[in-house]
Amino acid sequence: MSTDSQPQTILTGDRPTGALHLGHYVGSLQQRVALQHHHRQFVLIADLQGLTDNGSDPAKIARNIPQVMADYLAVGLDPEKTTFCLQSALPALAELTMLYMNIVTVSRVERNPTVKNEIAQKGFSRSLPVGFMVYPISQAADITAFNATLVPVGGDQLPMIEQTNEIVHKMNSLLGKPLLHSCQALTGSTDRLPGIDGQAKMSKSLGNTLLLSASDEEICRAVHAMYTDPGHLRVSDPGKVEGNVVFSWLDAFHPDKSLVAEMKAHYQRGGLGDRLCKKELEACLIALLTPVRERRATLIAEPDYLMQTLKAGTQRAREVTQRTVDTLKRELGLPIMG
Ligand code: ATP
Ligand code: MG
Repeated sequence: MSTDSQPQTILTGDRPTGALHLGHYVGSLQQRVALQHHHRQFVLIADLQGLTDNGSDPAKIARNIPQVMADYLAVGLDPEKTTFCLQSALPALAELTMLYMNIVTVSRVERNPTVKNEIAQKGFSRSLPVGFMVYPISQAADITAFNATLVPVGGDQLPMIEQTNEIVHKMNSLLGKPLLHSCQALTGSTDRLPGIDGQAKMSKSLGNTLLLSASDEEICRAVHAMYTDPGHLRVSDPGKVEGNVVFSWLDAFHPDKSLVAEMKAHYQRGGLGDRLCKKELEACLIALLTPVRERRATLIAEPDYLMQTLKAGTQRAREVTQRTVDTLKRELGLPIMG
């Protein structure tokens, strides 16, 4: 979607379960920075959703809120153009979640492939928190409360967008009018960045991340440990680029795409060693992250400014979201008091 098409409302966000990483950058942050100039953009820090698998550690979620705010501003999200808001301070979102929970079946919730996969990864079994099971419903509430039509997300979130649109459709049929808007996912240049350990997705809870705040040493250590092609024993051996994390990352981050294409061809026919590929990757990551890390260090030293910025945006978001819930309740024939 071009950024100069009709302005649309955007809602996207992150769980404050840790500081943000390179997966967030290519999956969503990069797009948000570009889109903020031409659209009405809300970015939600989803602390309630963060609690769905951290219920016994709310302090961890609270502590990471300013961390995520610092990441946002450090990559170039601008509070003049983007409204930042906090999920737990928007009661309309919880109210909408409760309303939607009555029109979604248990079997539908159980079918969500991302949730299924996360439940297996986290080994929840019978100790699965109810809140975790239904978090896609709360995401639908978040998106529709803002009347968002565009949602920049990573590939793992596509099932959530599908489920949101089903809820929109059901609710509109119930109301007999198209009150809620359906939305469209907008995946980034890399919709699922693999972790440094070679797992399919870099994720805070899998501990395989490279943070936006990483130092040069951390970058080099991560790249050094990175999974390549185990069959590529000698430099002269032909190597595989599929499933080779170094090449996935070069694709995601290297600005010179033709150089990466040449490197891939050379690696595949043999004669290009892992060490040189990793050097090239290190250099481009250092160039990308150094200015982000420097801006972030200044920002994180100003927690009051970060929280004030979040508070100001949350106040604006409260009006928008409450209006949606009130309209919906009125149309459903539910009483509105106060
Ligand atoms: P957690 O492990 O706590 O769920 P996470 O690393 O998955 O954390 P989220 O806050 O759940 O991060 O995701 C926020 C946004 O970033 C989502 O749109 C998600 O799709 C995107 N995202 C996260 N990780 C990646 C990744 N590795 N590649 C592309 N997009 C990603
Ligand atoms: Mg996640």
